[in-house]
Amino acid sequence: MQTEADAIVVGAGAAGLAAARRLAGACARVVVLEARDRVGGRVRQYPAARLAVPPELGAEFIHGQAKETMLLMRDTGAKALHTDGDAWIGADGELRCDEVDFRTSARILERAHALAQDESVESFLQPFERDATTRETAKLARAFVEGFDAAVPEIASARAIADELRSGVDSRSARPSGGYAPIFARLHDACVTAGVEIRLSTVARKITWQRGAVAVDANDASGAACTIRARAVVLTLPVGVLRHEGDETAVVFEPDLPEAKREALAKIEMGRVVKVALWFRSPFWEHVRDGRYREAGFFRNEDRPFPVYWTQFPARSELIVAWAGGPKAIALDGVSPPQLVERARSEFGTLLGEPALARTEFEGGTMHDWDHDEYARGAYSYVAVGGGNARSMLAAPVDATLFFAGEATSSDGQGGTVNGAFETGERAAAEAASALRAGA
Ligand SMILES: Cc1cc2nc3c(=O)[nH]c(=O)nc-3n(C[C@H](O)[C@H](O)[C@H](O)COP(=O)(O)OP(=O)(O)OC[C@H]3O[C@@H](n4cnc5c(N)ncnc54)[C@H](O)[C@@H]3O)c2cc1C
Repeated sequence: MQTEADAIVVGAGAAGLAAARRLAGACARVVVLEARDRVGGRVRQYPAARLAVPPELGAEFIHGQAKETMLLMRDTGAKALHTDGDAWIGADGELRCDEVDFRTSARILERAHALAQDESVESFLQPFERDATTRETAKLARAFVEGFDAAVPEIASARAIADELRSGVDSRSARPSGGYAPIFARLHDACVTAGVEIRLSTVARKITWQRGAVAVDANDASGAACTIRARAVVLTLPVGVLRHEGDETAVVFEPDLPEAKREALAKIEMGRVVKVALWFRSPFWEHVRDGRYREAGFFRNEDRPFPVYWTQFPARSELIVAWAGGPKAIALDGVSPPQLVERARSEFGTLLGEPALARTEFEGGTMHDWDHDEYARGAYSYVAVGGGNARSMLAAPVDATLFFAGEATSSDGQGGTVNGAFETGERAAAEAASALRAGA
């Protein structure tokens, strides 16, 4: 089956939906191809009916000022709930109130701006770790890079992390009341109302292009082959998907992407995350130890397989999230999802000093394996050593025909975030619309 359109958008995550909505205002026929049977991509809410706010298996927080997200939230009536609960840190078998926020410690990495040459976070932090006066700060900065950026310190660019810190993306975090789902539902409806055709369960396999003409070969929900032709395409495929080659699940470009794109892709890594949602009969942690964890936001212990757990504070909920990023996520390779749920639950009990309650109160848990998800192939991107301009190189249009969006193309410090993805979708759509106007 063949379809003609003005513009095609591949992917209906944050970047793809933002791009499609914007393009619909500029051209008559926009078709979105989405491999999954749902929109949202790496934003996915798990339908746990009993919980007031169901768990987010992908993105959960709003980072920094997040202008696009705030605008969408205004349309849905959602509020940003700031995560200002108490932080508790495990040390010597006890939990004590954590006075040093690891985001403050990460500021040490801002000094990487002064480096004559980029280096890895690992080699940048080593001198600070050797010095007794800076050892603790450097340890927390490492935890930030591993936990927040989901990055491996030996691979991650110290300068890129310094840029990210300068952007203020870590300056505050909040959650949308009601989670991300209503925001994505709203964006989806706005696209449909504007006339965008969204084809779910449609997997792009091959993109054949020349200046001013593109054909996307895809398989639809029944497995049948279809081809969609247009004058421009906005690609929002995650870096893990763009980098994947060598089997029938790879997305093939004909002709191949220019060398600069492949250089950029070689310098952007997919971060690794294991995020497990656990729910209990009651928020039992609020009542133990004379209620001292009643306002807890985070529980941390860098020496454990899941170094961070969080509550939904200020919202009251029976939900606890366990998080392992970067090397800690890699160390859990090969552990099955049910085993990960069980390990997260029992580790939480140990951390709290309440193993029996964590067992008897436990009701259920779940996770999404983003690493083995062929439409994500990892959690979110970070820049490798020497990859200073890799994100802008990936973002650059090719021949006024191929346009690139998605969190990995965000070059203002918001790479790896939902808001960064929304903004790249807007940017790529504006570029495509102007190329279409010029060629009309
Ligand atoms: C566990 C986890 C926790 C996170 N936490 C946060 C957080 O708290 N805050 C935050 O801001 N960000 C967070 N993120 C990152 C955030 O989810 C992403 O940065 C953002 O959602 C990416 O949007 P995107 O549109 O660039 O990509 P995606 O959402 O991945 O969209 C790309 C789309 O392309 C589709 N696709 C892939 N291959 C094909 C194909 N061959 N054909 C057609 N379609 C295809 C995919 O199915 C997907 O829908 C988290 C991510 C993970 C995994």
